[in-house]
Amino acid sequence: MVKRRNLTIIAGYLVFIILLTLGVSHCDGQTVDDYYNLFVVDAKAQGKALVRVPPTFVQTSDNLYLNIGGVHTEVSAYTQHKEKKIYINVVSFEYETNPQVLIYHELGHYYLRRNHTDRKSIMNINMWGWGGLVWDEMSTNHQQFYIDELFK
Ligand SMILES: [Zn+2]
Repeated sequence: MVKRRNLTIIAGYLVFIILLTLGVSHCDGQTVDDYYNLFVVDAKAQGKALVRVPPTFVQTSDNLYLNIGGVHTEVSAYTQHKEKKIYINVVSFEYETNPQVLIYHELGHYYLRRNHTDRKSIMNINMWGWGGLVWDEMSTNHQQFYIDELFK
């Protein structure tokens, strides 16, 4: 009886830990496709026609690298225009912190042909990361500003 009870307790802990892990990594339960669909709705509301075929999202937990100005640089995501693919490291800080910003940024490259900017924008990579404005503001009260700016 004692052994069996211990097993039940251990099993209970395991289930709790698994649920906790799932909850932390996907707290709002949104997938890449959900954010893509949100982007399509926002584009429509902004009067932007998305004329290209939808990109294929390649989700990976491997590190992604790009050659940026001759420097082998780790990135959380990138858009491959020719292949019509968007690569996303789903265990990157950026994806885990605010997947919507990351996906909207890449779709900004893909559909809107936006480049990086120094302005207050989802396309400003200097506003990202720890203490970055976009992450906080997108998830709080300035979301519409960034969406308007992205599609304008
Ligand atoms: Zn970019």
